[in-house]
Amino acid sequence: MQHSFLLLLLLLLSFSSSLSPRPIPEDDDRHRQALFRATQYNSNYTWRSFHRLLDLERGSRVDGLVGLKQYFVRFGYLISSNSTDSVLSDAFDARLETAVLRYQASLGLPVTGKLDATTLSEVMAPRCGVPDLNPNRSRAAETVQRFTYFTGKPRWAGRKPLTLTYAISPEHTIKYVATADVAATIRRAFDNWARVIPVRFEEATHYESADVKLGFYGGDHGDGEPFDGVLGILGHAFSPESGRLHLDAAEQWAVDLGKESSEVAVDLESVATHEIGHVLGLGHSAVKEAVMYPSLSPRTKKVELKVDDIEGVQALYGSNPNFRLNQTVQSETSSAIALRDAIKVWRSISTLGILLIKITMMNVLA
Ligand SMILES: [Zn+2]
Ligand SMILES: [Zn+2]
Repeated sequence: MQHSFLLLLLLLLSFSSSLSPRPIPEDDDRHRQALFRATQYNSNYTWRSFHRLLDLERGSRVDGLVGLKQYFVRFGYLISSNSTDSVLSDAFDARLETAVLRYQASLGLPVTGKLDATTLSEVMAPRCGVPDLNPNRSRAAETVQRFTYFTGKPRWAGRKPLTLTYAISPEHTIKYVATADVAATIRRAFDNWARVIPVRFEEATHYESADVKLGFYGGDHGDGEPFDGVLGILGHAFSPESGRLHLDAAEQWAVDLGKESSEVAVDLESVATHEIGHVLGLGHSAVKEAVMYPSLSPRTKKVELKVDDIEGVQALYGSNPNFRLNQTVQSETSSAIALRDAIKVWRSISTLGILLIKITMMNVLA
């Protein structure tokens, strides 16, 4: 009798807590675990050593912090003015703190100014080599815009409907994936964008004459933006109308993650779709779910354009007459609702689980 009453009380409590609006739980612990797992990879991948910087904040000094400063210089968060600069020291100074704050704000992370697990796991995540910040962007625009453009908002000009040709370098390629599979994957990446804008992409017969030239390159490949081996920087592309799109040949590229077992495999269509966004004129987005967000975890597929990507690219080229933005808005809204409901159900189940354990223990003790 006592137990039934207790059960009823706890059930009521569990449901009231699961239905009341609560903030999403702090995911710092999840990132701590992810960081630990990442350091277990066999490969000696880029930025692996940054895990030692966990929980550092202003006032700390740790060997190797200079590497993180170089990272922030590379991606546009810290400016190195001369060789005696504080950028060359291992001290966590005010300038580094400002860089961390800007980084967190630009990537939609909790703005703490510290190297917490959430921030550090984002720093260590494989990413695009294109810098995140446009120094000419006004502060007001930063708070409104989620998608961004290159300085001067360049785009491909030409008669409408616009047709761009592309080709994959026959020389700079990867040997372990069939040429036809690479071609089909790159085709899909272009189609992801062609669905939403009135731009046609055609495979060129000659590499040299193509508007967009794709290739896999290793290390320093002559454009001042060297690649860095496994993970780290995955690829980069140049603003319109350059058309250069480069992928790091050192990655374990996958055209089908289901058939590729490597823990550091990188999905080719996802990175190609992102880099084509740059070729068209988009910069990085602060929206984590957007294709134009700068990082991509290994073994992750992210090819579906989100409303943020679509609004950004359509502001440059207009809309494909066959495309309806409302459908994407609705599907994003319904997946957000589904996620919220799933979290509620999960909370109810976990509360119920704890409850059942408690009752079982009470019965054992009774
Ligand atoms: Zn990028
Ligand atoms: Zn390059």
